[in-house]
Amino acid sequence: MTFASLGLIEPLLRALETLGYQTPTPVQAQAIPAVLAGRDLMAAAQTGTGKTAGFAVPLLQLLTMEGPKVAANSARALILCPTRELAEQVHASVAEYAQNLPLTTYAVYGGVSINPQMMKLRKGVDILVATPGRLIDLFRQNALKLNQLQTLVLDEADRMLDLGFSEELANIYRMLPKKRQTLLFSATFSDEIRTLAGQMLNDPLSIEVSPRNVAANTVKQWIVPVDKKRKPELFVHLMRKGRWKQVLVFAKTRNGVDALVDKLQGLGINADGIHGDKPQATRQRALDRFKSSDVQILVATDVAARGLDIEDLPLVVNFDLPIVAEDYIHRIGRTGRAGNTGEAISLVCADEVNMLSAIEMLTRQTLARHMEQDFEPEHRVPDTDASGQVVKKPKKPKKPKTSGGGGKRNLGKWVDSGEVAPSEPSIKPVRKVPVFNTGPRKKK
Ligand code: AMP
Repeated sequence: MTFASLGLIEPLLRALETLGYQTPTPVQAQAIPAVLAGRDLMAAAQTGTGKTAGFAVPLLQLLTMEGPKVAANSARALILCPTRELAEQVHASVAEYAQNLPLTTYAVYGGVSINPQMMKLRKGVDILVATPGRLIDLFRQNALKLNQLQTLVLDEADRMLDLGFSEELANIYRMLPKKRQTLLFSATFSDEIRTLAGQMLNDPLSIEVSPRNVAANTVKQWIVPVDKKRKPELFVHLMRKGRWKQVLVFAKTRNGVDALVDKLQGLGINADGIHGDKPQATRQRALDRFKSSDVQILVATDVAARGLDIEDLPLVVNFDLPIVAEDYIHRIGRTGRAGNTGEAISLVCADEVNMLSAIEMLTRQTLARHMEQDFEPEHRVPDTDASGQVVKKPKKPKKPKTSGGGGKRNLGKWVDSGEVAPSEPSIKPVRKVPVFNTGPRKKK
């Protein structure tokens, strides 16, 4: 199959050729004709499948071929993204696909001054990429009208719900014209997403290019059990042993990111961090420097790293496992993109066993374990498998006390997740997804 056989116009074919896209990916092969035919779409496509071109390319064609010129303070198509970085990235791709077309594109998001965005919107833009909060701000300040909107794209819809944007989405829904085309893309398809789709989409075509909730099979994945306090040491050890060159590392919290970056920098390792507390410009600079290989190790929280496309990223390390199991799929989707192979290593301590189990259940696989010599944990990580079972072994009988003590404490002690580190209760991987509600709130 070729892009030409999908009915794309010459300026788009030329742009794709310039970018080196030779054949459509499966999601593109299905989405492009459907979008051109004006259908609504509900697409389950994991990261790295080429979904951005899957919606953006036919959208650009429709906007070129149809519809009146964009009016002042208006947009003809809106692409909603969960994070600023993703909005930037999607916009950069859209601009590349549109390079031979007389269309205007722009991205708006929070964390930066709103005034230049208001100025830019004065003339109107054909395709606007936006994060939900800033879009609503601009709308409320009359900098943006949506009555000319033809197409709405919800990109990474599951993540928007995970990040708590359900209320914003409900507000935006009320701002939209009833007659429009809506395309919904989501890496994972929960019941909440299906509810959202039921409200937003009209007779959608369902596209599923990979089995539901399954991680990219081009990524080799394994875990290294380790005690929590020894994770930084193990990370440095593995980095030196494996001669890691470019690694994206995920930590659970902002403090966790800062602590690891400090530790690495203290050892003279070229590392930087991104998380939600850092100003947008700093985040973007760290990311750009990582992409251009000026930074070797980039440590990030999930919020900051979602959806990033870094060419040929060979390795992702989960310094901490994610609390929401679906995030594991997104994290490891940063590597092994567009058919390349990649590796994902998770450093797992005993109190993360429930998260490990949830990930294995979601991805329907038991992750291989590699015990690193000299880092064998004192607090054993219980066995898990894809059935969601945490295999509890009976506690070893206590040895009779001998006078004088002196034996090695804790060695070989069975510790289950509830027992570990009483000061830090284990976090259960309960997924809190806000309910999307477009109507008035019901009184309980
Ligand atoms: P996405 O899933 O949209 O983030 O795309 C993942 C990566 O695949 C991006 O770097 C795209 O530039 C690249 N890509 C998308 N479509 C194609 C294609 N048909 N051929 C080659 N690379 C592609």
